[in-house]
Amino acid sequence: MSVVPSTRPRVALTDEAKAELKALLGDRFSTAAAVREHHGKDESYHPNFPPDGVAFAASTEEVSAIVKICAKHTLPIVPFGTGTSLEGGVAALAGGICIDVSGMKDILRVSPEDLDVTVQAGVTRKQLNEHLRDTGLFFPIDPGADASLGGMASTRASGTNAVRYGTMRENVLGLTVVLADGRIIKTGGRARKSAAGYDLTRLFVGAEGTLGIITEVTLRLYGIPEAISAAVCPFKDIRGAVDTVIQTIQTGIPVARIELLDEVQMDAVNKYSKLDYAVAPTLFFEFHGTAAGVQEQAEMVAAIAAENGGTEFAWATRPEDRSKLWQARHDGYYAALALRPGSKGWPTDVCVPISRLADCILETKQDIAESYLLAPLVGHVGDGNFHLVYVVDPDKPEELAEAKRLNDRMVDRALAMGGTCTGEHGIGYGKMEFLEKEAGEAFAVMGELKRAFDPHNLMNPGKVVRI
Ligand SMILES: Cc1cc2nc3c(=O)[nH]c(=O)nc-3n(C[C@H](O)[C@H](O)[C@H](O)COP(=O)(O)OP(=O)(O)OC[C@H]3O[C@@H](n4cnc5c(N)ncnc54)[C@H](O)[C@@H]3O)c2cc1C
Repeated sequence: MSVVPSTRPRVALTDEAKAELKALLGDRFSTAAAVREHHGKDESYHPNFPPDGVAFAASTEEVSAIVKICAKHTLPIVPFGTGTSLEGGVAALAGGICIDVSGMKDILRVSPEDLDVTVQAGVTRKQLNEHLRDTGLFFPIDPGADASLGGMASTRASGTNAVRYGTMRENVLGLTVVLADGRIIKTGGRARKSAAGYDLTRLFVGAEGTLGIITEVTLRLYGIPEAISAAVCPFKDIRGAVDTVIQTIQTGIPVARIELLDEVQMDAVNKYSKLDYAVAPTLFFEFHGTAAGVQEQAEMVAAIAAENGGTEFAWATRPEDRSKLWQARHDGYYAALALRPGSKGWPTDVCVPISRLADCILETKQDIAESYLLAPLVGHVGDGNFHLVYVVDPDKPEELAEAKRLNDRMVDRALAMGGTCTGEHGIGYGKMEFLEKEAGEAFAVMGELKRAFDPHNLMNPGKVVRI
């Protein structure tokens, strides 16, 4: 039951607008049905809303020229990175032009001495880390999917490493952005701190393309740790696993990753990735630091786990074993869907203060136990963030209604605990009603901001805010 919010009226793509876009881009402007279909949909259960045309941009100046044509013809504009988001963000609810920046793949500058880099928006996180390999540096934000850095900035993404390195909010230093009238602005810079005026960088980070199109991103980098070690530990019950997380965080142990998979998800992972882990609530850990530091962290966490019913730590120290372990974790979404061929995923994304994590997870698991829906649980639990994936048949309205009922209860529970409806996936149009509930009067202020940046509601209309 995907509720599509009201949005601006559709404006037809005229022959004149088409001709202007063709003249600018040649073959890089397409109205082919297959290309439009590919751009109207993300990786979730949300239905396909194809744009009227897709413009493949190559530079900031080109994005600006496309936006000027769209503004002249009042055509909606939907930015597109790699389309891996999960809340309908790339759906062209009012038609218009999709601006695909995935071809903007230049790494413009790496400054190892300052630990920063500037990239075009279409560079993906894996491409960046591949490029950095010989410098001894890496970019840690890892949403699992090989997403574009422009898309990651736009959804304020995080993932498994955020407990140690923060989210895109902490790691974007500056941006180049094309505004709704085609103007090009730069926000932030390379200084590690600045008190210079309004923080526009943080306004565009998480704006999901509703305020402008990010064309370049300046990011923080980190030294690759001297030692890295990963481990998997099953627990007798989920409370023991969650209590281990809470005590680890409250003790201040600087774990780099601490991920929870429940027994349903572990079964899915075993089947999908051909592994033989115990089918039990399980924590995946990673420790970064010096060899001695990693050993000390690991021993402290192992002791906490043992007190909470953790049965044994299976270590992965060789890079190839670690990659296998984390690839299995990252494939968790597709492993969940593979439990029911032909299904789609309805991923949830609440995040609560760490002290409320056990209550939130246990009450949510009780809801699932009383429902007929299949819903494996995974979580970036070190941040208090976890996901259920309702594995649904999108053609069965009763299943979508049940997923919505459960999700509503889960979000209400998280909000009552001082949490949020989305730790990292963003609002798109799928979570707009929850944002309104969560933000209260501030939701109206977000709408006023949107109007100030985009008075004609051209930029990704129908997403995040209602105007
Ligand atoms: C299996 C799987 C696991 C995932 N795990 C995580 C996770 O752990 N953590 C997490 O945070 N996310 C996760 N995600 C969600 C997704 O990967 C992130 O939301 C990612 O940041 C989206 O990047 P993208 O390039 O695919 O953006 P897209 O899906 O292309 O776009 C996302 C939104 O940003 C807008 N946008 C895209 N590019 C730009 C731009 N240059 N300027 C302005 N607006 C733009 C789009 O219009 C859309 O609203 C997961 C997704 C999948 C499929």
